[in-house]
Amino acid sequence: MKKMDPDKAGHKCGVVGIISSNNVAPELYASLRIMQHRGQNSAGIAVSSSEETIKAVRGLGLAHEVFNAENLSSLSSHSGIGHVRYPTTGDDMIENVQPLVLRSAVGDVALGHNGDIVNSGALRDRLENLGWAFFSTTDTELVLRLIVNELRDMNDPVRAIRNALKLVEGGYAFTLMIGSRVFGIRDPLGIRPLALGKIPGGYAVASESVVFDMLDGQLVRDFYPGEIIELTSEGYMSYPSPLSPEKSERASCMFEYVYFARPDSVIDGKSVFEVRRNIGRVLAREHPVEADVVIPVPDSGRTHAIGYCEVSGIPLSEGLMKNRFIERTFIMPEQGARENTVSLKLNPLRSVISGKRVVIIDDSIVRGTTMRKIVQMVRKAGATEVHVRIGCPMIVAPCYYGVDMKTRDQFIATGKTEEEVAREITADSLGYLSINGLVEALGMKSSELCLGCLTAEYPTRIPGERMRFQRSLESFQEMRSASPQIMRK
Ligand code: SF4
Repeated sequence: MKKMDPDKAGHKCGVVGIISSNNVAPELYASLRIMQHRGQNSAGIAVSSSEETIKAVRGLGLAHEVFNAENLSSLSSHSGIGHVRYPTTGDDMIENVQPLVLRSAVGDVALGHNGDIVNSGALRDRLENLGWAFFSTTDTELVLRLIVNELRDMNDPVRAIRNALKLVEGGYAFTLMIGSRVFGIRDPLGIRPLALGKIPGGYAVASESVVFDMLDGQLVRDFYPGEIIELTSEGYMSYPSPLSPEKSERASCMFEYVYFARPDSVIDGKSVFEVRRNIGRVLAREHPVEADVVIPVPDSGRTHAIGYCEVSGIPLSEGLMKNRFIERTFIMPEQGARENTVSLKLNPLRSVISGKRVVIIDDSIVRGTTMRKIVQMVRKAGATEVHVRIGCPMIVAPCYYGVDMKTRDQFIATGKTEEEVAREITADSLGYLSINGLVEALGMKSSELCLGCLTAEYPTRIPGERMRFQRSLESFQEMRSASPQIMRK
């Protein structure tokens, strides 16, 4: 199964971990349903069945297709982790479904991963040359094996995790189980989100804070960059990054706010809903237009459109009705088939559109094929003018941190001006949010954000790409100079 909209960037994965005096299986399952938007290819839950053993149920498909009353009742436990997956590295096969579980001399260890390890190829080659064998094609197994390798030498999980992660670079959020112990781990720059919450009977970590709300709990706080937190039956233990939170660089993924996360989540202290509304307001200031009605592309453009209307004064209306029962997009790899899928999913409301100057609002444009179809659909429904406003600057460069935007030639904006893209999508005008406008809407400093896919400057070292923070490079080099010895298998 592929992503919901083939013309949008692929979602990253969602991770969750819970320790509770209650049975965690139903709560882990509910968490996966809540985070289903982050990955639709597979779902899995791993729970402790004793202090050293872990039991898992994993499968391809949506969470409600993988789990049922019978297999959930077999997962009764007080600690566990869960995962929904959208594959950005590794194939779409059962061996890659997470959480991955390794039966080892130090007991069972399970890992769920959101993000990508940038140096996984080189590291995997190095380990295979040393005789290591892998059962999956994911970078997650690489990290899992490195952690287990360290655990064999020491009875200190936090040191083992730190040692193993000295070898890897990238954006990641992990939930890890060592026997019955549950850990959350965020990458040193906080690229991928991870939050800590209090829920009835215990504590949880999750990719998005909305999980805690819906489990009748509350957000405690986001993980600091590089922080490891162990959940315990009494609460939690925090192990901050050796770089203190104040000193450490940050590089939160701007796309979580623009598109990926649910609007009812809070990431690094910012409400995703409010950020999107601010984006709409800034967009209206940057790209005003004389028009009669604003219509969002459902559901991704809704919140941005609210902000646009607040500032522009143009009335907001539904204008594109979504077929709610076609969420599971067919696998249609051909471009023509993709465009046909749009008319199955969206239908224009003639009574709203006919004879009007229309502004269409969406969160982002990646390939542009869907937007061209929407513009044509709205024009055919009688619009006299069609203007497009986009709540994200032009995407021009790949993502290396877990988002399915891998090559420059897939982006409609690569090497084009705004006017040229407007012509390609057949719009009367097109306005992208500026990078400064995005930073303003987020209310953060640009140095606290990853803007790699907009600027082609990345917060970590990527072969062949420019790096943004020299200090980060130095930190990584420092950490690597103290790299642990990898054992020959
Ligand atoms: S490159 Fe873009 S999508 Fe990838 S982590 Fe950075 S901001 Fe997010």
